[in-house]
Amino acid sequence: MSRYSILIDVNKCNGCFNCFLACRDEYFGNDYPGYSAAQPLNGQFWMQVQEIERGEYPKPKISYIPKPCMHCESAPCIDAAKDGAVYRRDDGIVIIDPEKAKGQEAIVNACPYRVIFWDAEKQLPQKCTMCAHRLDEGEKLPRCVESCPVEALVFGDLDDPNSQIAKLSASLATESLHPEFGTDSLVQYVGLPKRFAAGEVVYKGNEGECAPGVKVTLSGGGRKLETVTDIFGDFEFEGLDKNEKYQVIVSADGYADNKVEFSTYKDVNLGEIVLEGK
Ligand code: SF4
Ligand code: SF4
Repeated sequence: MSRYSILIDVNKCNGCFNCFLACRDEYFGNDYPGYSAAQPLNGQFWMQVQEIERGEYPKPKISYIPKPCMHCESAPCIDAAKDGAVYRRDDGIVIIDPEKAKGQEAIVNACPYRVIFWDAEKQLPQKCTMCAHRLDEGEKLPRCVESCPVEALVFGDLDDPNSQIAKLSASLATESLHPEFGTDSLVQYVGLPKRFAAGEVVYKGNEGECAPGVKVTLSGGGRKLETVTDIFGDFEFEGLDKNEKYQVIVSADGYADNKVEFSTYKDVNLGEIVLEGK
């Protein structure tokens, strides 16, 4: 028995869209009988890459979240289908039968992740198959995973303890994209955007000149983190909890500590933090 999955590392994804294009290349105009009908020209994103704009000027960031079908173990799309038109294979992959599903538009609306698309011409719901046709032919990877230049996507069998994905899943804090949906998604993530706080440090009398190599300590939310400013005097703490109280203490030899308190009801730009001589 297998449980195929994709582990998506959002920290590594640079938004190149190679995975989306590889998926298009595999499925646009190509029928895979028993697995999927050809993807139409427009309107279908079996591997979406969502852009999330975060923070504000002058410390904005963009995070990218690749989003295929989650191949849920409690899949509402299976429940919504008639005549077994959507089913889970023994390896965990959820398939929409391209013959049985004809005319069943209700399947589209059953997916809380919104990853099923309606082909009006074929009257067919369609989605990611984790490239089941390739795997059954002996290929090792789905096209999206194969195409990722930075290994942000890791495919494998969660039930094989020697697989890379099983080892990563055991050692990293993985999570579902939307655990509140309660669908037990096989596709898992690391590094999903939470909150970040950023700022820059300068010395009094030299405002505007950066202070590199300065220690910045963050505490709050039961955590204590430490970093140093970069060559521009900038620092950043990523992955902070939402709606939590934090403080940072900036300290350098010969200068008085400067403490700043803030809440993470949104991403936070702490602005310029000035160190004064003792
Ligand atoms: S993500 Fe949506 S389409 Fe995929 S298995 Fe879950 S409910 Fe079905
Ligand atoms: S190919 Fe990899 S890096 Fe590029 S968008 Fe997809 S997951 Fe991100």
